[in-house]
Amino acid sequence: MTTIHNLGFPRIGAKRELKFALESYWKGESSRDALKNLGTELRARHWAHQQDLDWVPVGDFAFYDQVLDMSFTLGNLPGRVQGFEGDALDNYFRVARGRSAAGSKVSRSAAASKDSPSTRNADHPHCCGGGVAAAEMTKWFDTNYHYIVPEFTAATEFKLDASRLVAQLAEARAQGVKAKPVIIGPVTYLSLGKAKDNSSKLDLLQRLLPIYAELLDTLAAQGAEWVQIDEPILVTELGADWQHAFNTAYHHLKTARIKILLATYFGELAENKYLAANLPVAGLHIDAINGQADVQPLLGLLPAHKVLSLGVINGRNIWKTDLSAVLDWVEPLAERLGKRLWIAPTCSLLHVPVDLNSEEKLDAEVKSWLAYALQKLDELLVLGKALTLGRGAVKAELAENAAALAARRNSTRVHNPAVRAAVAQITAQLGQRQSSYGVRAARQAALLKLPSFPTTTIGSFPQTAQIRQARSAFKAGHLDVASYRAAMHAEIERSVREQEALDLDVLVHGEAERNDMVEYFGEQLDGYAFSQFGWVQSYGSRCVKPPILFGDISRPRPMTVEWIAYAQSLTKKPMKGMLTGPVTILNWSFVRDDQPRSVSCHQLALAIRDEVLDLEKAGVPIIQIDEAALREGLPLRQSQWQQYLHWAVESFRITANGVADGTQIHTHMCYSEFNDIIASIADMDADVITIETSRSDMELLDAFENFQYPNEIGPGVYDIHSPNIPTVQQIVSLMEKAAERIPAERLWVNPDCGLKTRQWVEVIPALQNMVAAARQLRAQM
Ligand code: GLN
Ligand code: ZN
Repeated sequence: MTTIHNLGFPRIGAKRELKFALESYWKGESSRDALKNLGTELRARHWAHQQDLDWVPVGDFAFYDQVLDMSFTLGNLPGRVQGFEGDALDNYFRVARGRSAAGSKVSRSAAASKDSPSTRNADHPHCCGGGVAAAEMTKWFDTNYHYIVPEFTAATEFKLDASRLVAQLAEARAQGVKAKPVIIGPVTYLSLGKAKDNSSKLDLLQRLLPIYAELLDTLAAQGAEWVQIDEPILVTELGADWQHAFNTAYHHLKTARIKILLATYFGELAENKYLAANLPVAGLHIDAINGQADVQPLLGLLPAHKVLSLGVINGRNIWKTDLSAVLDWVEPLAERLGKRLWIAPTCSLLHVPVDLNSEEKLDAEVKSWLAYALQKLDELLVLGKALTLGRGAVKAELAENAAALAARRNSTRVHNPAVRAAVAQITAQLGQRQSSYGVRAARQAALLKLPSFPTTTIGSFPQTAQIRQARSAFKAGHLDVASYRAAMHAEIERSVREQEALDLDVLVHGEAERNDMVEYFGEQLDGYAFSQFGWVQSYGSRCVKPPILFGDISRPRPMTVEWIAYAQSLTKKPMKGMLTGPVTILNWSFVRDDQPRSVSCHQLALAIRDEVLDLEKAGVPIIQIDEAALREGLPLRQSQWQQYLHWAVESFRITANGVADGTQIHTHMCYSEFNDIIASIADMDADVITIETSRSDMELLDAFENFQYPNEIGPGVYDIHSPNIPTVQQIVSLMEKAAERIPAERLWVNPDCGLKTRQWVEVIPALQNMVAAARQLRAQM
């Protein structure tokens, strides 16, 4: 008999009910009770979906974030919100979202153009005397989920508040499900946090462990038999002190009267498997897809009394599992391990959408290949039955699964021989510019005749209500092609005229026709599908709906040329064509599981390369290829970074480098830690890179200075996330700081990122000051 269980369920709701309830509560349009009731309702619904499992996760629901929940459970609140008198949930939202002095929400500096935040830096909060700064937020391992970073100092004390878990356990018990509370483990919790005073986080372990012990005893007293303790940092490279912390922690907790299932996921334990196997716990869960190589060695390493839980259903993608293939390798293990074998999804299902059955418009063929959270749980039940009763008990289910997989494997929509052949013919030469940067720069200078400190913007201009209306009317079929085109041409013309009036040097068309920088391209490429309800939580109430990359990628026709050529036809100034790069498109999509990411990326690169060449042919002299998400794709283990960066940079080069020397290639990256990828950025060899830097006071340029980055750079001179208008003097002084690091003749002047979330009344004065600052800098030279 094989035990089946789940590690976590998406909390946002199949129709994003939690998102809408949160936002309405924050706006003051609904009551706190209404929000809390919805939470109760969602938990009950989600447990009902999981009631046939042997163990159901409890405590995975969060109103904002599971790490923030853990901080509250451990009594670790930032000093600035301690002593708050009001409702605990409101205090929780104050940490998550901040609060201005006037009591309204502090604007969150998420990346504007994507519903995906860059790391938010709490050292540069957007507020304000009397207010409360929101806590920092950062990426949860290699997912697109973002958690609230716990804050520590040498003086941090912990104090147990088990009320949330105790209450939810009671709810689950009342509902009759077999509850397994889920918490984040002490070592991962410390490692995810930030010491605000640079003290050693590990020094807090001794203070933290008694609280965990008390928590485990409380859960045991509530009748919990098992607790799932998540320690995903075990799949990353750990220093000796952190390895030691694992031993200290779990030896301290081993007297608890509850069985601990230590859960790891997202990758391979690799060298940490000895450590993980020998901790004094009752069971170990591993990601048996990303960490398949761990399985065999663990069979030998794991003491004979321990449960081994295998994550055999991918919790990170939306594809059906090959059930027979899983059974082929798990059946012998079930034989060998007997009751000690558990199976589950690889990780919490937080990272997949809820219910495929909600999809009404999704291409039927593609839909038949997919599984969202509920369908993955169905797969788990089938596997559980097959392992316990034999495959005969689920014959029909296995046959249906096999048929769907065979259809996908053989579909001509998935496999395009011409695309495969083109990828096979990629040579190093394809990613090579005709001449080196120095030669190109001279040629471009002669053609473009730009002044020093040239001014430009990052691509998008305000997405006004009219633009959005026209786009949705066109999509809904209420606006015909000709009227839509006329509406977009009018918007392009408006932005060109504004830019001419501002006297910017390099213009853009403004991206009015784009809903989203990835979806816009995905919709026009063969090999992509779009869902209606494929939402995944990104942070708090924010969700993303990644497009589904299901087949070999090709470009049936040009995607942007008509808009950008039209924009160029309106002006004598150089127009900068705007594209999203292959790595960013890949990293913000659901990707295939039947080929390596690098192959999909190369296919995207060839498709966008054709677009670059068509833009060049249409007379567009400058082409920007955005790679906002390049850094996001870095693997969890540093030892694998080079491999990723190699194909990522190669893909960019294939996309960009087919042009003549006189065509200027730009790229753009949002806020990033550039230090450890600077060599790869240089390797991309874009003629100009624009980056988000203003909030770092130009310190991010240190990486470029130290590396002696050879090409041109446009360090962002003002934060587009804020409505503040920068003054001429602020911009000049930022550029002076930039010029201390990068020779002035290689500097551009531009905002941090695209302006689509701003209004024209903010954009115009800001850019006026930016142009005035550039003039002053030229005069100073
Ligand atoms: N060209 C895009 C824009 O201006 C870039 C967005 C981004 O970097 N996230 O909107
Ligand atoms: Zn950006």
